[in-house]
Amino acid sequence: MDRQTEQFLRDMPKVELHVHIEGAIRPQTVLQLARRNRVALPADTVEGLRDWYQFRDFQHFVEVYVAVSRCIRTPEDIELVFREFLLGQSEQNVLHTEATYTACTIQKFAGIPWNEQSSAICSARDWAAAELGVSLGLILDIVRGDSVDRAYEILEWATSGPEVGVVALGLAGMEWLGTKEYREVFDEAQRRGLSIVVHAGETTGPETIWDALEHCHADRIGHGVRCLEDPVLTQHLLDHQTHLEVNPSSNVCLGVFPSFGVHPLGRMVSEGLNVSLNSDDPPMFSTTLTGEWLKSVETFGWDRETVHRLHRNAVEAALVDDVRREELRRLVLSDVASA
Ligand SMILES: [Zn+2]
Repeated sequence: MDRQTEQFLRDMPKVELHVHIEGAIRPQTVLQLARRNRVALPADTVEGLRDWYQFRDFQHFVEVYVAVSRCIRTPEDIELVFREFLLGQSEQNVLHTEATYTACTIQKFAGIPWNEQSSAICSARDWAAAELGVSLGLILDIVRGDSVDRAYEILEWATSGPEVGVVALGLAGMEWLGTKEYREVFDEAQRRGLSIVVHAGETTGPETIWDALEHCHADRIGHGVRCLEDPVLTQHLLDHQTHLEVNPSSNVCLGVFPSFGVHPLGRMVSEGLNVSLNSDDPPMFSTTLTGEWLKSVETFGWDRETVHRLHRNAVEAALVDDVRREELRRLVLSDVASA
């Protein structure tokens, strides 16, 4: 890649729709929180963490993810993690981020009630908006395997007031556990006008994407990268221009595809699917959003028009009000177009 293209990809204003707060904690901060809160981890150096972040499979990834989440013990920890996250987004010129946060895990392990969690998050978000000029939409997720009561509780938190800034109810975790028991929770979320984003078609095939669309009222699909295995589904996604949040390095690190070079993202884009590029859990997968852009443009040979199209997909799929969308169109799209 020539230096000019590389600089352009680093500098260009970005939007990210799929990234997890706990999966994005800086390695130094994971160690700092573990020390401060006397949480035992299998590593006490950044290099050690890097080794620990070599995942055998999705199940192993979930175990590591939960262990990292357990390092958060206080509202101050939450605020620190969110502030550092938003600073990192700002450093990559990510102007708007929609990030998933598993509040129920933090409540379970650290015993921090939702109102205290949300005020820590709001304080970090307001700081980032004022000081860095970046915006954050929060996605609170249900983890497959959670009880239905817990899922309802998460829905209550998500709809507890507009000032909290929750833009969607999410569903994550092990896809093979299914969604059946949560259907009425998603029905209720839809009745309340809350958007819904569902991880599907990552570790399992097209059937979970159908399930997310037909039974969970998903507005966007997290991953969806196995959709090409089903031509009827692919056509459905094309017809409805359903947005798919793709995270290629994550898929390679978790063994969904053997290498970046054979990842279907290039084909998904050339077939006209509505996709965006995202980083999922960047330090755990040794990447950043900018890193995903560099690798994707290099691997799939995207021209500026394709880069622009993916930005437009993300801006139009963002869960923001009309004023912010217009701002993002102006700030992100005109800048990329004029490059
Ligand atoms: Zn994810």
